[in-house]
Amino acid sequence: NVKAEIIAVGTELLLGQIANTNAQWLSNQLASLGINVYQHGVVGDNLNRVQEAFEQAQKRSDIIIVTGGLGPTEDDLTREAFQLMTELELVEHKPSMDKIQSFFEKNNTTMTPNNRRQARVFKGSQVLFNRKGMAPGMIVSHESTTWVFLPGVPREMKGLFTEEVFPYLQKLTGNTEVIKSLVLKFLGIGESELEHRLSHLIQAQKNPTIAPLAQNTGVVIRLTAKEETEERAERLLEESKRQILHEVGDYFYGINDETIEENIISLLKEKKMKIASAESLTGGMFSNRLISVSGASNVCRGGIVCYDTNVKQDVLGVSKETIQNKGTVSEECALEMAEQVSSKLDADIGISFTGVAGPDEVEGKSVGTVYIALTTSNGEKKVEKFIFSGDRNAIRRRATLKGLEIVFH
Ligand code: ATP
Ligand code: MG
Repeated sequence: NVKAEIIAVGTELLLGQIANTNAQWLSNQLASLGINVYQHGVVGDNLNRVQEAFEQAQKRSDIIIVTGGLGPTEDDLTREAFQLMTELELVEHKPSMDKIQSFFEKNNTTMTPNNRRQARVFKGSQVLFNRKGMAPGMIVSHESTTWVFLPGVPREMKGLFTEEVFPYLQKLTGNTEVIKSLVLKFLGIGESELEHRLSHLIQAQKNPTIAPLAQNTGVVIRLTAKEETEERAERLLEESKRQILHEVGDYFYGINDETIEENIISLLKEKKMKIASAESLTGGMFSNRLISVSGASNVCRGGIVCYDTNVKQDVLGVSKETIQNKGTVSEECALEMAEQVSSKLDADIGISFTGVAGPDEVEGKSVGTVYIALTTSNGEKKVEKFIFSGDRNAIRRRATLKGLEIVFH
């Protein structure tokens, strides 16, 4: 039973300027390797204190992962501290030095001597060449303890760990079992309803495990599979995903870190359809969410923020009769808003939002009442009424999310 520990070096971490996300990420990786992590440590950029932290770790742990302090500056002291403890010799790593030199040449700047510092590695160590940055990482064995040194920059740290350290530790611990996860994301269905509809799968679950979880962006299911190989784990996940979507696929919108807006953009791009929005209470939030996705230009025509009644009538072209007889918070007004924005902005899909964000009621309609209409150039028309809870901005956010859900499904 190997004991692992993670040490993050950096005063910024102690000052609370940055969060120790490296430790969190690494812990997760080590857990997936079946390696037990017993300790997280953070130590500032101080030679004696780093050395002390290393000495304590050496006594109690079998695998020690250190991040940070490998860079070129005076406060990068990880190597020096380890050298004080082990008396190992530091030598220059030629490929890393070449990379550093060519970086300075390319950028037409002179290399200061301290930049040589970061190309030094312990003699006899396994060097982890850093493709995403300058300072190489290292794996060093010292008195039957395995030390892994990684750069502090998360992108570089993750790259080196995934490519080199993960397979190394897998061999080292003889643990060939791979743990893989897949997150399925849903909108428009509550957690309890989802659990209910999947209860036969959840009860029979072994591998992968199925864990539903409510989040403020909808419900997610985390599937976790353990298998001999990555391919087999992935196959198990795929099969389980297929079974789950067979039951509740209508509410599914994406996996892992995909967002609904990203997937709307891909979907509409595939269908070669363009969208325009008429937004009253959401004030452009819907457009904003879509346009934040790169590639939105293929899909988004634009939108009209028609908050004021006169703008709904004069700019957008909602009929006077509708506004007088039905009011602005009505099915009829929502439908006309969607139709008008779609034709005015030459889109295939028009969506509209009109309602009462609060704090006061409007036209006798209570706070939280929202109509969302969707019309398409194929002549499809639908409008739905919702009562959202929460304060003004919660209502606006919920309406926006519902609009995204309606477009996607
Ligand atoms: P560099 O070559 O950039 O100096 P380094 O290996 O010396 O890299 P640090 O100087 O300790 O690493 O950190 C570089 C940057 O990486 C920090 O400014 C910080 O933004 C980020 N970083 C460092 N440690 C962590 C950590 N534990 N969690 C998250 N981010 C970190
Ligand atoms: Mg540094």
